[in-house]
Amino acid sequence: MYLKHFIAQNYRNLQQLDVVFDPNVNIFIGQNAQGKTNLLEAIYFLALTRSHRTSSDKELIAFDQDYANISGHVYKSQIDLSLRVLITKKGKKVWVNRIEQAKLSKYVGQLNAILFSPEDLDLIKGAPTQRRRFMDQEFGQINSEYLYFAGKYRQVLQQKNNYLKLLAKGQARDMMFLDVLSDQLAGVAAEVIVRRFKFLKYLDRYAQNAYEHISSSNEKLTLHYRPSVKEVTESDSVEEVYRKLLANYQKNQKVELLKKTTLSGPHRDDIEFELDGKDAHLYGSQGQQRTIALSVKLAEIQLVHHLTAEYPLLLLDDVMSELDHDRQSALLNYIHGKTQTFITTTDLEGISWEIIKKPKVYRIK
Ligand code: ATP
Ligand code: MG
Repeated sequence: MYLKHFIAQNYRNLQQLDVVFDPNVNIFIGQNAQGKTNLLEAIYFLALTRSHRTSSDKELIAFDQDYANISGHVYKSQIDLSLRVLITKKGKKVWVNRIEQAKLSKYVGQLNAILFSPEDLDLIKGAPTQRRRFMDQEFGQINSEYLYFAGKYRQVLQQKNNYLKLLAKGQARDMMFLDVLSDQLAGVAAEVIVRRFKFLKYLDRYAQNAYEHISSSNEKLTLHYRPSVKEVTESDSVEEVYRKLLANYQKNQKVELLKKTTLSGPHRDDIEFELDGKDAHLYGSQGQQRTIALSVKLAEIQLVHHLTAEYPLLLLDDVMSELDHDRQSALLNYIHGKTQTFITTTDLEGISWEIIKKPKVYRIK
């Protein structure tokens, strides 16, 4: 798939942008604070209806304006699509082929985009929250069931936690209702966990391959899902995970009442990245961590392709300058001819562009 025509109005500092992109490689070159990242963010927003930088959509509306509008024409092998997102201070609306979609879940997934920026180092280096957000965001865009169950899980989790607080304050007494909530929560959690195991298994395979290619080393990268309920394993069915979680909630009910919060489940699970069996979060060098993060993003490209038979867009923000010459070449080689790619840089110098035949270069000012 590729994004051909793109329009942005009042999106951060992009007042009025109307551009036709190259199906292969687009390079945005400009000095600091000109709007390069804003442009990548706008493309990403058109795909996912969320920003990678902020959870507050209001920030995306240009100063002194009431709305931001982005739209684009997407070409896939079977169909052509027109997509539009309108962001106002009250919320956002989305259209597919000029028909407004009441649910975001009906919109997300039409256009797939994978973004890699320097902050993605946090995927390895950062707290578990980062890795859970990664799964929810990335698996959500490729699988609408995942998107649904992850949203439902957050909702039921909040309900249960609120009820635990009411019980603690003595404002509620019905323990049967707590059991009902735990039962519901375990049901939705199992749907989330089983899908996470499945998608991570694919990512593991593809990321190993990408890591080998980019680092040109013999180190072996492996990804592992680490459930907070230790009894849960990869081979479990949804039903088995559900039973194990329920047993865990029952066993921990007293502690949960005391702490007034749910102590295990998808919101406490984690991913472990290992190089030759050593946890890269603890032992990886900065360069290794960056290459792992990049490999995981490249693995996502393969995963999207596996699931949808289309390659997603690849957005690379300030990435080239962070890689040494060999890794730059390996990266460009790896993606070349597969995905429509958008690359930002402050300087064309020192980057091994020779691999890309005819990139389209835009100066951003
Ligand atoms: P760098 O090379 O430093 O990463 P960049 O070209 O990627 O720079 P961006 O982050 O895309 O820069 O753009 C930053 C500019 O956008 C800043 O000048 C900032 O003030 C402006 N900006 C951010 N949000 C808004 C907004 N809501 N309305 C108007 N301008 C905004
Ligand atoms: Mg930037």
